[in-house]
This record gives sequence, structure tokens and C-alpha cells, in this order.
Amino acid sequence: MRLPSKLLLASANPAKARELAEVLAARLGGDVELVPRPADVPEVAEDQPDFEGNARLKAVALCGATGQAALADDSGLEVDALDGRPGVRSARFAGESADDAANVSKLLSELGELGAGDPGRRARFRCVIVVVAPDGGELVASGTVEGTIAAQQRGESGFGYDPVFVPDDGDGRTFAEMTSDEKHSISHRGRALSELAGQFTIP
Ligand code: IMP
Repeated sequence: MRLPSKLLLASANPAKARELAEVLAARLGGDVELVPRPADVPEVAEDQPDFEGNARLKAVALCGATGQAALADDSGLEVDALDGRPGVRSARFAGESADDAANVSKLLSELGELGAGDPGRRARFRCVIVVVAPDGGELVASGTVEGTIAAQQRGESGFGYDPVFVPDDGDGRTFAEMTSDEKHSISHRGRALSELAGQFTIP
């Protein structure tokens, strides 16, 4: 797919949309204008069983409603002791309108019994990105980062489960203790965006 001059971003989560735009701009240079989802285009229900299905649903809906190339991502955290939960339900783990703080507390309380080195604390973030063009062209890219869930929250940056996720490829800090550049050099989203950037043909 040729890199479009303008790309609509489907994310309704402002913190995540900011991260996507920031990292994609770094990967693609100034060649593409990134535009947030127009307010009159409704959100779609993310009811698919996997990240790719949800990302495709959002990208197809946004491209269909606007006639412009659209990028959607779906991401989440899989924890071994919880058999891969919260997974596609990461944003709604503690309830339909749960905020980040409620989701993180629920996670820590569900893992409460497990000691620091317990294998059940192993976890990974996954991100799948789908770009859909008005001519039906599609690109799919994905990224994963392995790590462990800390016993307590540390750090103020980022969003979601960042204060309790310690990536294997880091130095023991949680994602929330890293700068945005440090996080995205190893994050699931940074990796998926790098893979995506390599798939566009630059006009
Ligand atoms: P989505 O908006 O349906 O993709 O939901 C993603 C949810 O997964 C977010 O609301 C967070 O709870 C979690 N999540 C995804 N990526 C990250 C990340 O980079 N840091 C922390 N939490 C994340």
C-alpha cells in the first residue's frame, strides 16, 4: 500500500491516540498527516474475540464512514496466572466504565497471593494494527512485549497497566517509570508501528 498523505486514527482513548500519533510520526517522518477520528463518526462496539478482529472492525468502519484511509489498533495485557486475561477486555477488566486505576487494582488483587518470582506473574502486552484504504487495500502489523507484573505500582507516566508492567527488555523499571521514547523503543505498540511503517511504499 502506498503511504497515504492523510491517515485517520480510530482510537477513542486520548492517551493511546497521542502515543500512536507520536510513535508513528517518529517512524514515518513528516510524510503523513495523522488526524483523530472525527467527532461525528461513532465508536464501534469491540465485540471480536481477538485483537486483530477488533482492529479491523474499527478501521473498516472509519474508512467506510469517511472515504479516507484509516488506522486502528487493538491492544491489551495477557497474564499467565489469569489464563491470558484480561486480553481483549483489558480496558473493561473491572467493569464497563472502569478507569485505569480500577483495572490495575483488580489485577493486583487477583495476583495478590503470588510471590515476586512466581511464574504466574509473567505477562505480555500485545498490539495489532490494521490500516484500511478506500480501495479495499489492507495492512496488518503486530507487536508483543514480554514482562512481569510488579507487586506494587511504580511511576507516573503512560497509561493503563504501565505502573505495574516490568518489561524483560528493560532495566527493572515499570513502563510508567520510563520516558515515552524509552517505552516505545521496546513496547508492543512501538514494535507494531515499526513493522507497519516498513510495509508502506513511500510515494
Ligand atoms: P483498547 O483501547 O481496546 O485497545 O484497550 C487497550 C487497553 O489495554 C487499554 O485501555 C489499557 O488498559 C491496556 N493497554 C494497552 N496498551 C497499553 C500500554 O501501552 N500500557 C498500558 N496499558 C495498555
